[in-house]
Amino acid sequence: MGVAIMPSVYIKTYGCQMNERDSEAVAAQLAAKGYTLAPSEAAADVILLNTCSVRDMAEQKAIGKMQNIAAEVRKHRPSVVLGFMGCMAQSRGQQLLDQLPEVSLVVGTQKFHRTAEYLDEIFQGKRKKIVDVGTEAGSEAAIKEHLPLSQKPIAPVTAFVSIMQGCNQYCTFCIVPFTRGEERSRTIPDILEECRQLAQNGAKEITLLGQIVTSYGKRDIPLREGRSAFVQLLEAVHELEGLERIRFTSPHPKGYGDDLVEAYRRLPKLCQSAHLPVQSGSDRILKAMHRGYTRQRYLDIIKKLRQAQPGMGVTTDIIVGFPGETEEDFCQTLSLVREVEFDNAYIFKYSPRHDTPAAVMAGQVPQPVKEERNARLLTEINAIGRAHYDQRVGQTVQILVEGPSKKNPSRLTGRTRCNKIVVFEGSDRHHGQLLDLKITRAGSFTLYGDPAILNLA
Ligand code: SF4
Repeated sequence: MGVAIMPSVYIKTYGCQMNERDSEAVAAQLAAKGYTLAPSEAAADVILLNTCSVRDMAEQKAIGKMQNIAAEVRKHRPSVVLGFMGCMAQSRGQQLLDQLPEVSLVVGTQKFHRTAEYLDEIFQGKRKKIVDVGTEAGSEAAIKEHLPLSQKPIAPVTAFVSIMQGCNQYCTFCIVPFTRGEERSRTIPDILEECRQLAQNGAKEITLLGQIVTSYGKRDIPLREGRSAFVQLLEAVHELEGLERIRFTSPHPKGYGDDLVEAYRRLPKLCQSAHLPVQSGSDRILKAMHRGYTRQRYLDIIKKLRQAQPGMGVTTDIIVGFPGETEEDFCQTLSLVREVEFDNAYIFKYSPRHDTPAAVMAGQVPQPVKEERNARLLTEINAIGRAHYDQRVGQTVQILVEGPSKKNPSRLTGRTRCNKIVVFEGSDRHHGQLLDLKITRAGSFTLYGDPAILNLA
């Protein structure tokens, strides 16, 4: 199809921060090729869904969404090109085209950077349908473009940088090693160049991203003075001028060696927060999950982290109702939660994923039991979190002001170094500033602060 004006693309993203990052890189690559970015599905010539496979519900949501879009497009806009990208695209491939004949493009997790080229082929009439879910050497380094500032409503002060792809841990419940492939890491100079550019464009905080960031560079970069490749990367990013804060996600408890714990003491830009997915408090279940640590090892890491940084914010992920989880195992999780006193925890009811060992394990837990454990755990976590947040009232905290609050855009929001959200009445001049605030009250996993009180004091 000969087009005078380049087609416009709308990308809808499901799932984690890695997916958000991938979508932005694809959008930036498309924009660089002349495609425009549509503000909504209704205005787009191409609609792409970047999908998630971590839970069955996420897959069903994306398929349902595409069915609705396809029905609308079939009736009113038959020339619109529809495509799937990401984890579900990777795991289902051709199946998606068979199920949804209106879809023309399926792009796997190692092929994001080919999206523009495949759309060109479709628009030029060279091919009608394209499915590419193959592996590609070097694809981990292909997610580096960011949208230009002119395409953003507000200059971002926080930025995400993808440092590696894939995971070799093969937790028995997790589909990620199948959808994202083997661990593959970018080089330190390549990552630094991206971070430098972001800092030059005004980013003050960078979050390093990967499925298991603490395994970064394990196979390619040797230990240096006992420091892992990941800690070496943190040190290198720490040197960059203009950057004030460094975060990372998701780590694995196995990667929290003494070198990383020490990094929290040594590197002032490294924020005092750790999201350490524990998944269960029962050794029996941790073993069945193939997590690679025990309850005691996990508790030891938390203790060391809090010794290194007493104000450390600690959050976690927990799965309830993993196959074989008894009431006793669940009580072990409850007791671990009380012992650690997490600032917050994300609870997931176990959802069987195809091709994973846990999906066919004996002792699948009935849904009502999962629901009940989920509710009990949530009550516990909310109470502990509430107490943590209440303790902050009256304290002075430093936040990086990120922009308008989502719930009430007339207020501003930012995060403390220990990753708690703070909302306050501010003005445009505060945007992008590191600001000291006095906490005046605590809500549900949100703090409220006032810069004026400090200025008067
Ligand atoms: S470490 Fe994380 S990404 Fe890797 S298999 Fe386990 S849960 Fe999945």
